[in-house]
Amino acid sequence: MHSDTIVAGVELGGTKSIAVVGRGREIIDRFRVPTTTPDETLGAIAAKLAEWRQEHRPAAIGIASFGPISVTDGTMLPTPKPHWAGAGIVAPLAHGFDKVAFHTDVTGAALGEGAFGAGVGLSDFLYVTVGTGVGMGIIAGGRPVTGMMHPEAGHIRVRRRADDAFAGACPFHGDCLEGLVSGPAIAARTGGPAHLLLADHPAWGDVADALGEAFATLFLTLSPARIIVGGGVGLGQPQVLPMVRERVVAALGGYLGFVDAESIEDRIVPAALGDEAGPLGTLVMAQDALA
Ligand code: ADP
Ligand code: ZN
Repeated sequence: MHSDTIVAGVELGGTKSIAVVGRGREIIDRFRVPTTTPDETLGAIAAKLAEWRQEHRPAAIGIASFGPISVTDGTMLPTPKPHWAGAGIVAPLAHGFDKVAFHTDVTGAALGEGAFGAGVGLSDFLYVTVGTGVGMGIIAGGRPVTGMMHPEAGHIRVRRRADDAFAGACPFHGDCLEGLVSGPAIAARTGGPAHLLLADHPAWGDVADALGEAFATLFLTLSPARIIVGGGVGLGQPQVLPMVRERVVAALGGYLGFVDAESIEDRIVPAALGDEAGPLGTLVMAQDALA
């Protein structure tokens, strides 16, 4: 699957964007810019891509972007992020490339983990980032799920403990999953930044409750072989995953033979590639576009 062909990739993030050119898992060159306006950010990246086309002749490009995006139109959908609503993403970056792939940043990271990280060898798995928001990339039959658009499973609702009165922090839904477990949600619940909370703070139990409910639902719905957890919150608090695993096993009540107390350590795992999942994922996307 991962040939020696040189390809390019772009990961647009909420605060910074990265372009890479590489081959398989090897990144030959990389370029970083702050994410400001579409003209400025995409313009700077397009200029770098033009240089790389001369120097490296990449055969395809994979573009992964913060969302919400339209994967069919190659544009940004309505978003509160200033300047970006409706912006064309694919057109300014794909110029000069014959083959182009376009997905969300979290789908890109899922593909990176699938090729080189915690999802190697799996055709059906989820990548969940818990950070400023909650995003999910769903890989089914070896391909990212894109129906109407990309999955927005960070906003599913979860059963709440009766004694938990926190209203949640999602501007759309209040106590959806993201409204309960994102960094800003934890800050709203506790009154201080998530990364400064002690590891044994009771809020981590609340986070584990919500993630446990959500993951149990996802195992029942999508039957993934593995759920890979990344993001600042997901990776920054290693004490939370064991609690999430316990919650999932309890919530499933012994119903799913493939998610039990023994197998759960292999079913829910931390991401392996950290910040490299995104950039490597864009190269995987480009390779897939060639196949
Ligand atoms: P983004 O989601 O913006 O791509 P991150 O995944 O790093 O970036 O998520 C940032 C969020 O994660 C912030 O809300 C921050 O408070 C939280 N965070 C970062 N590091 C930690 C940590 N070690 N423990 C808990 N929360 C953290
Ligand atoms: Zn929501």
